[in-house]
Amino acid sequence: MDQNHFNPALLKLAREERGFSQKKLAQELCIQQSSVCKYEAGVLIPSDDTIRSISKLFGYQSTFFFQDDLPVYSGLIFHRKRTSLSAKKRMSIEAEARLRAIDVLHLFKWKGMKSNIIPRENRKPEEMAQALREHWNVNDGPIENLTKLLEDNKIVILSFKFDAEELDGFVLNVDNIVCIAMNNDGGFSPDRQRFTMCHELAHALLHQNVFPDKTIEGEADRFAAEFLAPRKAIESDLVWPMTFEQLKQLKGKWKISMASLIYRAHKLGTISDAIYRRIMMYMSSHGFRKHEPECGLVPETPTLLNNMIQEFLAETQDALSELKLSEWRFNERYKQSGGLSEMSVGKA
Ligand SMILES: [Zn+2]
Repeated sequence: MDQNHFNPALLKLAREERGFSQKKLAQELCIQQSSVCKYEAGVLIPSDDTIRSISKLFGYQSTFFFQDDLPVYSGLIFHRKRTSLSAKKRMSIEAEARLRAIDVLHLFKWKGMKSNIIPRENRKPEEMAQALREHWNVNDGPIENLTKLLEDNKIVILSFKFDAEELDGFVLNVDNIVCIAMNNDGGFSPDRQRFTMCHELAHALLHQNVFPDKTIEGEADRFAAEFLAPRKAIESDLVWPMTFEQLKQLKGKWKISMASLIYRAHKLGTISDAIYRRIMMYMSSHGFRKHEPECGLVPETPTLLNNMIQEFLAETQDALSELKLSEWRFNERYKQSGGLSEMSVGKA
């Protein structure tokens, strides 16, 4: 291994993903904490033996840490709810997403693929949503399966358990490959997940070079609302007076939460402030602000990444060496796709 190509950022990510402090890693390796500090600062390169121990500990092949051409930290992460999450937990979740995104980079490079997205070009969020629908050849109607639409356009959904119920998703845009990390712990309704995916997609499209402030959250919500239901199509559906039954039917049709539909109707001016407040009070008093009727919505399941992994395993001689993962690490990360036992691995 050419020691010059050691990538300290990858060591830091691997450590953070496992929730290890520098001190804990030093103890595991029986070395000084200051050494770990220096490795991660890039002022000292670990010995071959130490690299081997680190690789074994975190489940990588030694070559993993010698990829110095990876845009590991590019791609901003915005959180809708970051306040109550501890820094350690947040770092671990972000590190896991970045490490999964590295696999995606390898796979996309192998296939010569990029996400099918468009530049912002000073468009307002709503205009951007309309432009993207047009670019993806989507008519003005409801989007039946948002996950499939995103994946058809090579937006990757990184679906894993966050171990943090306060966080439902965030986005990484690495080299114009958009990866949306989604918490699949089952705590979020299908309509909320769809809104989150659109909200995060908006950040990738609209906010790559902006300072994260409050306005971007509103912009991402505006994009999501328009992308899921274009104004010109939903306006005629949002006419009041409407019965609760009709509202439920609308939710089933557009696969958007009732709360979002009411909010949208208010935004579009089809209901007055007073009526908006009255409906929201009704929703609260019946517990619908916390748990809405499902209206037949079912969770969407991503398949793109698992399919690519399967294909990669089938067509690549030594797939694990290419991905630079140990067998247990691979199996743990991709157990949803069946793990190695059910797949044909070149090495076997
Ligand atoms: Zn956001």
